[in-house]
Amino acid sequence: MSFQAITSITINNSTSNSILSEKRDIAIVGGGLAGLISSILLKRAGLDVVLIEKKQYPFHRVCGEYISNEVVPFLKREQLFPNDLGPASIKNFQLTSTHGNSHTITLPLGGFGISRYALDNHLFKLALHAGVDVLQKTVVTDISKESTNFLLTLDNGKQVSADLAIGSFGKRSNLDKSLNRNSFSKRSPYLAVKYHIKTDHPHELITLHNFKNGYCGISKVEGNTFNLCYLSHRSNLKSAGNISDMENEVLFQNPFLKELFKNSDFLFDKPLTINEISFRTKSLFENGIIMIGDSAGMITPLCGNGMAMAIHSAKMLSDIITHNRSQYGFDHDQIRKKFENSWRSRFSQRLMIGRSVQKLFGGTFTSSLAVHMLKTDLGKYLVGLTHGKPF
Ligand SMILES: Cc1cc2nc3c(=O)[nH]c(=O)nc-3n(C[C@H](O)[C@H](O)[C@H](O)COP(=O)(O)OP(=O)(O)OC[C@H]3O[C@@H](n4cnc5c(N)ncnc54)[C@H](O)[C@@H]3O)c2cc1C
Repeated sequence: MSFQAITSITINNSTSNSILSEKRDIAIVGGGLAGLISSILLKRAGLDVVLIEKKQYPFHRVCGEYISNEVVPFLKREQLFPNDLGPASIKNFQLTSTHGNSHTITLPLGGFGISRYALDNHLFKLALHAGVDVLQKTVVTDISKESTNFLLTLDNGKQVSADLAIGSFGKRSNLDKSLNRNSFSKRSPYLAVKYHIKTDHPHELITLHNFKNGYCGISKVEGNTFNLCYLSHRSNLKSAGNISDMENEVLFQNPFLKELFKNSDFLFDKPLTINEISFRTKSLFENGIIMIGDSAGMITPLCGNGMAMAIHSAKMLSDIITHNRSQYGFDHDQIRKKFENSWRSRFSQRLMIGRSVQKLFGGTFTSSLAVHMLKTDLGKYLVGLTHGKPF
């Protein structure tokens, strides 16, 4: 730990927004999967870690909530797997075209379903237990770097100083703007909608239903609840006027979706929505800040692999920092070089394939082609390429 007092008093309480005057080893911005996992690993390795999250746990997120099994060995080894929360085991994958052609396969690796409400809260508690200083309901408004020191400005007027800053602030954040990131300046036409529902759907099946300019996933989470989440081009919403009419006019063209919506109980008062979802390439480093999870690059949701990538990138970076520090202290150049090599070799191809496969989705002809391809070895091979290997 590096305790160099840079301002006045210090009152440290792990969940309250107290003044932060000592210099930290690591400041992590954003407490999704990437931020929470890296905070736990780095703290367990003996570093002084502060994690800053703008919301308060537990909370819902727009996400399909299907996690590839590639993360299971790591989560179990680190005692992070949410066994007690009763995750659903998912083994089969069904794809339907805009007009209802369908094919089902057994997933090569499979996955599990758990709500982000439960999973993130579980990891938040483990972070507190490990001794991570978690600042909730706190927004980082700016990050500057002087020599080897990062200075984070918070929306409560306070500042945090750290040797290393990790950006795990997700797909789109105020920080993308304040850091002048290229990916932020271009608008994206995609919006997403999520519900939790009670319905009659096979427990071990994840389905992706195509509709015009979009696709909708359904799979089980904990309890008797299912996640229903879709990605749509904003032109659908613009022409329909509102979400309910868009669902009626566009999604229900796929007979499977019409049936599903009509025969389900919707558990939220209103849908959770986000917009401006971009799959463009992002920079891994910005002004010395190292990006993980969606801040480093977002895979198209149809791959069901973004959470696994967030978890894996957090592990990769934490391992590199821990190892590097024991040999050289915080050598920023070394850490960046090693992380960039690992990240690119594991994720670049996956992101590219995800973007290519998504082009088949949402069109009448192309979605039928995708269903047809799923019946072939090539289709199964592509599904495999969008996923990683167990780690
Ligand atoms: C429609 C849709 C469906 C998806 N379905 C799946 C799926 O089924 N399976 C799968 O594996 N992946 C899926 N994904 C992708 C997955 O949700 C992401 O890849 C994953 O959540 C990334 O985790 P993260 O930790 O990088 O970011 P996030 O989970 O987004 O966390 C980022 C955090 O940073 C916080 N934050 C942002 N800015 C600031 C700031 N300035 N100060 C403080 N805090 C800040 C946010 O509040 C947030 O909590 C889906 C994505 C979408 C859009």
